[in-house]
Amino acid sequence: MANTVQVDILTSERTVYSDEVEMVIVPTIDGNLGFLPNHSPLITGLQIGQIRIKKDGEEIELATSGGFIEVKPDQINILADTAEFPEEIDIERAKRAKKRAKERLQKSDEARINETRAESALQRAINRIDVVQGE
Ligand code: ATP
Repeated sequence: MANTVQVDILTSERTVYSDEVEMVIVPTIDGNLGFLPNHSPLITGLQIGQIRIKKDGEEIELATSGGFIEVKPDQINILADTAEFPEEIDIERAKRAKKRAKERLQKSDEARINETRAESALQRAINRIDVVQGE
């Protein structure tokens, strides 16, 4: 049996990653799940969090803000809303986004839908900062 699986991470803008890997751990809507080669077929949603790829004994991390994952025994496709490697993340932009979202949440007499949006923006910003800081 193969001991690697092809992983493709795509956004609407680009192919972010494409390689054979030993394992991928993704933030699904049911929590973090790890997928090894030869996994049974599955499709599920992703939430804001970190995608962790294990290849040649090393770990590669990306920040994602959600999307979908399709798992097949020899192929894993991740269709992400956004996906960034730590070196691609503009930390100052993420800090500004975090500050903006926090301020919005503090004066939250707005419609509830805006509060939900600000909460998601806050989580995306915190996640990006965590990925840069290796947390
Ligand atoms: P912002 O308010 O700073 O735009 P956001 O969370 O609303 O942040 P998204 O809608 O998740 O941004 O992403 C829009 C695009 O910008 C995507 O291509 C995403 O990869 C990119 N992006 C967002 N924040 C950053 C960042 N801090 N560093 C690098 N790229 C980012």
